[in-house]
Amino acid sequence: MKKYRVIIMAIIAMGIILIGTSDPLNSLYKATGLISKGIDNDKDKNREQKVEDKKPTSEKDDENSIKDNSKYLICIDPGHQEKGDPNLEPVGPGSGYQKARVSSGTEGVATKKPEYVLNLEASTVLKHILEGKGYNIIMTRESHDVNISNSERAIFANDKNANLVVRIHADSIDNSSKTGASILIPEEGGRYTSSIYEESNKCAELIRSSMKNSGIQINGVFQRGDLTGFNWSKVPAVLVEMGFMSNYNEDQMMSNPDYQRKLMQSIADGVDEYFKTK
Ligand SMILES: [Zn+2]
Repeated sequence: MKKYRVIIMAIIAMGIILIGTSDPLNSLYKATGLISKGIDNDKDKNREQKVEDKKPTSEKDDENSIKDNSKYLICIDPGHQEKGDPNLEPVGPGSGYQKARVSSGTEGVATKKPEYVLNLEASTVLKHILEGKGYNIIMTRESHDVNISNSERAIFANDKNANLVVRIHADSIDNSSKTGASILIPEEGGRYTSSIYEESNKCAELIRSSMKNSGIQINGVFQRGDLTGFNWSKVPAVLVEMGFMSNYNEDQMMSNPDYQRKLMQSIADGVDEYFKTK
């Protein structure tokens, strides 16, 4: 019984102390609030520390590379334009052999979409992804109603001192079952392109493995000595043929926003790997 009396006396004493203050309940809340706040703060700090520790290295690298990548300029060239220009231009500086300034490109067998529309769609996605990685981007065109020849596109990138040109196209062939992406690069030992072959090839191989890792069908890296856009380039250049618009399914896939994003992400990741070697 004595025990109970002591407890009751203690409760009464606490009550008197609380009532004695001007705003007993508020004081009590404040007191307990401060305590819990202090504990919470410590918890938050611990949590932040743990999140920092768990952050994957690649994410940390991305944060760092945003600063580094701003020194690189990438020129994206969405292939073709609304109207082809059959007037001729030399295929390389000083060449006697001439080709059309810009051809009209192909058209989707399922979507009926002109290639120049698909190329700009995809190029715009690629631009945003690369900008998100911190790169500076210039585009040879951002609308369809232009007339810029293949040599003019190359000279544009040369004059801007771009570090890389990425040309975006889609394929077509007289065989509706043929599918897959291809990467074209300037010819090794070519009359105009021997100085840019090595870097172009390095970049193309990194894009190829990135596409392969993303599960995209990639047919290979192919050298081309006949492309005006390569022959006038003083800058490493790759041309990605995204797939075949002459194949019903692949044509539809290339216009699917999810696939388009996946495809452009894989190209951007390859480009990013390339600049890590610099
Ligand atoms: Zn094309």
